[in-house]
Amino acid sequence: MPFFSQIGTIFIKNQGNYHFYSTMKKQCLECKEEFHGRADKKYCSTSCRSAAHNRLNRDAINFVRNINNILGKNRRILADLNPDGKARVHKDKLLAEGFKFSYFTNIYQTKNGNTYYFVYDYGYLELEGEYYTLVRRQSYVE
Ligand SMILES: [Zn+2]
Repeated sequence: MPFFSQIGTIFIKNQGNYHFYSTMKKQCLECKEEFHGRADKKYCSTSCRSAAHNRLNRDAINFVRNINNILGKNRRILADLNPDGKARVHKDKLLAEGFKFSYFTNIYQTKNGNTYYFVYDYGYLELEGEYYTLVRRQSYVE
């Protein structure tokens, strides 16, 4: 039973909670069908709601997976170019291998102002002339 109404909205008290129902048809965000329902309801049915949530969840999982793949590839590239724990390479070599400089796991700054970028245990430091020193670190740093 309506508690009171505003234009387009009916408030109904049900088990102590107030619900407001839209008197106008709404469009389901998933299947685009029109439906009547609570004003805050976005989907026509449980199946449409879970389909939408599953897709959002899938997008989030893919987003994380894509970044993990990039990080994994970056680490592989650094490992391949640095088999002995220390190496020197030109930026073009890294780029040719598909290295993505925007993706790394942490930064280490030395006391003398050098900034090492790490992809897990493999790191690099930019030198003059677009060269990089590649390093490997064994221990975990806070
Ligand atoms: Zn629907």
